[in-house]
Amino acid sequence: MPALHVVCPNCHARNRVPADRLKDKPRCGVCKQTVFTGHPAELDDTSFAAHAEGSDIPVVVDFWAGWCGPCRAFAPTFSAAAAQLEPKLRFAKVNVDEAQQTAARFNIRSIPTLAIFRDGKEIGRQAGALSPQQLMAWLAQFY
Ligand SMILES: [Zn+2]
Repeated sequence: MPALHVVCPNCHARNRVPADRLKDKPRCGVCKQTVFTGHPAELDDTSFAAHAEGSDIPVVVDFWAGWCGPCRAFAPTFSAAAAQLEPKLRFAKVNVDEAQQTAARFNIRSIPTLAIFRDGKEIGRQAGALSPQQLMAWLAQFY
């Protein structure tokens, strides 16, 4: 059975999980927390790299900041998509005020911006908030 690398949203350790076990609420071998919680993982510069480069599952990132009203308005839509689509995709949030290196490296000029990563490479980007229907349609091309 092929195994996939998944990165723990709690301790950011890399785990190997058989592909057919992904839906069985696998637990992290290091911290024993579930590796898919149905909620976006909050990532900083260090943990963003661990997820973007270490995950065999595409990682969709919501770049946001606390002062951004449209970002706060979009947050429930993003969380609902995480609850629906994990473990097909990993959902993560990156605060651009805190993860400044990551925001600069990917040239995030406006927020909210969604970007999706596979094997550390950006494979898609969407600037601006989306409706739930638009978000699900955009994400469907990546899983
Ligand atoms: Zn862990």
